[in-house]
Amino acid sequence: MSTGSPVGSHRVVSPAGALPQAADRLDPNPEIADDEVRVSVERLNLDAASYRQLHTKHGGDGAAVRDEVLAIVEARGKMQNPVTGSGGMLIGTVDAVGPRSPLGLKVGQKIATLVSLTLTPLRITDRLERWDGSSEQVPAAGTAILFGRSIAAPIPDDLPEELALAVFDVCGAPALVRRVVSRRYHSGPTVAVLGAAGKSGSLSLAAAKDARAASVLAVVRDQDEADRVDKLGIADRIAVADATDPLGLAAAVSDALRGRGADVTVVCVDVPGCEHGAILSTATGGTVVFFSMATSFPQAALGAEGLAADVEMLIGNGYTPGHADYALQLLDRHPGLRALFDDRVAGRH
Ligand code: NAP
Repeated sequence: MSTGSPVGSHRVVSPAGALPQAADRLDPNPEIADDEVRVSVERLNLDAASYRQLHTKHGGDGAAVRDEVLAIVEARGKMQNPVTGSGGMLIGTVDAVGPRSPLGLKVGQKIATLVSLTLTPLRITDRLERWDGSSEQVPAAGTAILFGRSIAAPIPDDLPEELALAVFDVCGAPALVRRVVSRRYHSGPTVAVLGAAGKSGSLSLAAAKDARAASVLAVVRDQDEADRVDKLGIADRIAVADATDPLGLAAAVSDALRGRGADVTVVCVDVPGCEHGAILSTATGGTVVFFSMATSFPQAALGAEGLAADVEMLIGNGYTPGHADYALQLLDRHPGLRALFDDRVAGRH
């Protein structure tokens, strides 16, 4: 058995010296090194920005989407959309554990990986024949590899797998929102969540409320989404606006927050072009959390400079300690949130 590197550098085929996330290609060989874990894959969850890009590119042709996902995994040894750069995560059953693995996993355990598919060596063996290409969740057979520094969460017995996958995919968002809002707690921050009817957005609303934001504003795309968010009973206010229209968005936020920008703006929309609107919607000295993978660093940085906007901007790190447990707690505390996720997983919206 070979000796692994905890960060997985021994799996990088090219370019030499890169870490797995930045690599063009990984070695997905199912034989494990001494500190690795092999997972028998059951289902992938493609990240929302990646799935939307593929769906749009192929005009909704599911077979073409499936062929492209297969081609990407074949070429790269991992599922990393070359356009969005994003991946997703997976669930499966642990089927081999190296003697030096520090992850504490046991053979036979059902787990969700909490590290991105963009750095997870992946081999698919069933040509994704059970997937019609029309949803983010992909029934799949194959193997995935976890490194010494990877993270994974056992799936609770009482949680359907599809639901666990949908929640864990975005569990970094609520944990980060709680942290950012809590640290401003004494100033009673207002929080605006863009894309609030989505997965990360609805969890972020609940986290902002939990962290005792003075006021939580949900910004959604249309009236249907507004009705859905209203049923959650979490948001203090709801505004309908196109997050890619900077002036329209800033006006909607300002109207809802009595002439001010938000102290904390959280971007959970899965399309590009929300940077300037988010910055304009944020009060001086406020914070913008860019959770969306469709965010452009130059658009955000140059946009803030060009608008002379004194705002702090955070990239939504998908990892915050305790993030998976916290997302599950929020789901337990808010039955409406659980219903929203159930509907999403069942394809009802
Ligand atoms: P989601 O559930 O699809 O939610 C996105 C929401 O944004 C949907 O409600 C969508 O409405 C709405 N939306 C789309 N275009 C809009 C517009 N122009 N104006 C206002 N709202 C709009 O997506 P998600 O799974 O929460 O993911 C959100 C983002 O987070 C994605 O970019 C994803 O890649 C990223 N992400 C980041 C991490 C990380 O670690 N940072 C991890 C996972 C995911 P419709 O459904 O009506 O289009």
